[in-house]
Amino acid sequence: MTDKTVIIGLEIHCQLNTKTKLFCGCSTDFQGDEPNTHVCPICLGLPGAMPRLNKQAVLYALKVAKALKLTVPEVSEFSRKNYFYPDLPKGYQISQYDKPIAEKGIMEVDDDEGHPKNIRITRIHLEEDPGRLIHKTSRDRAGYSLVDYNRSSIPLIEIVTEPDLRSPKEARRFLNKLRSTLEYLEVFDGEREGSIRVDANISIKGHNRVECKNISSYKGVEKALNFEITRQRNLIRKGQRIEQETRHFLEGRGITTSSRSKENENDYRYFPEPDLRPLRVSGWIDDIVLPELPDARRERFIAQYGISENHARTLTGDLKVANFYESVADADPAIAAIWVADILLGEINYRSMRIDDVPTMNIGDLIALIRDGTITDKSGVEVLRVMLDHCIGEDVETCEMPADIVTRLGLTKAAGDDFTAEIGKVIAANPNAVADYHAGKKGAVNFLVGQVMKATRGRADPKELNTAMADALKETEE
Ligand SMILES: [Zn+2]
Repeated sequence: MTDKTVIIGLEIHCQLNTKTKLFCGCSTDFQGDEPNTHVCPICLGLPGAMPRLNKQAVLYALKVAKALKLTVPEVSEFSRKNYFYPDLPKGYQISQYDKPIAEKGIMEVDDDEGHPKNIRITRIHLEEDPGRLIHKTSRDRAGYSLVDYNRSSIPLIEIVTEPDLRSPKEARRFLNKLRSTLEYLEVFDGEREGSIRVDANISIKGHNRVECKNISSYKGVEKALNFEITRQRNLIRKGQRIEQETRHFLEGRGITTSSRSKENENDYRYFPEPDLRPLRVSGWIDDIVLPELPDARRERFIAQYGISENHARTLTGDLKVANFYESVADADPAIAAIWVADILLGEINYRSMRIDDVPTMNIGDLIALIRDGTITDKSGVEVLRVMLDHCIGEDVETCEMPADIVTRLGLTKAAGDDFTAEIGKVIAANPNAVADYHAGKKGAVNFLVGQVMKATRGRADPKELNTAMADALKETEE
């Protein structure tokens, strides 16, 4: 249940998937490349290097601002955020401070009772990512750190919410929806390492606020918040004071620890970045065309395909899943919804696969086999598992098609004659169950049907089988 005394606000850093960095021409596509191979004097912060703003990053930030209904002020400004850390060669980060690119928006999210509510967005600002430190420890010597500047100056947007969230679950739903929206906008790639990082502010009404820094997964945010609620409530119960502090979340242990640092905004000595002119882009927002966003697509799925709200929600939560569904829905929208939302997603999660790895053509064929009654649902699952285990990752051309798997494994739905023979055998082999049935124990039918199912390896249609079994049992009556 939503607890009105829990107050949560989020600051979310998202990497924008531009081709080049925020202030130089270095490529952002460095996954798998050697450290420090995508660098230049600008993103290494060498003296005298002048930043040049990436227009695409500005357009992406504006796209997000428009989708979340923020206002874009006439003038925004870049500022230097000064601090020393080895991943920040300039000694400052170029960010935005008192004049962000966009302010005051909203995003609707369901509360824990399933009622929609508006979460206010305070601001969105653009900033550069620092480099990455890699900490090494070895048994024979003290630990040391390596620094990789490939990530230095990757464009980020920071999205800051008002403290409108009331539970860890609500915070997670908010983050899921935000991620999905960013993916629909095609400004963000959630599969990139470090693509999203969250700072979560949490307090219990009437007490000091705690900031949990740098959490890198949504599950982590929910865990950190749950841990903090318990910790803070325990302190309050004991009559102790909650320190206003920054805490770090230790993902592996699921706890937060005090970082003992009491930094505040004054420590950063923000001042306007003298090498970049103020941004005047408020007029650009009108030219930005938004794609269909998750809420609209969900409503369309319900109207166009006649599927349930729950199915539509599951299918539209992820852009790739939504596209996948639409490419197989032709065969039969209702059956496709069940097979994609309820069965396929579970099977691929279990195998740590991605929906991109699944050829739509094969799933479309499988759905057609089920629609035409060629195989039962149970056999369908078997065919799906064979496909996922053996053919994914191979060339789609050489991939065994569902119809061939059905033939090879003999999974064609059993015909009426097959039932008769099997039913006869099962009745003959289980006189006790038959006697139970005649004694009025209707549950005995289920047992007998189960035996036939086993014998036909799930190829028999359960409904037909039940009817046939009932008829056969009537004949055995004296
Ligand atoms: Zn560079």
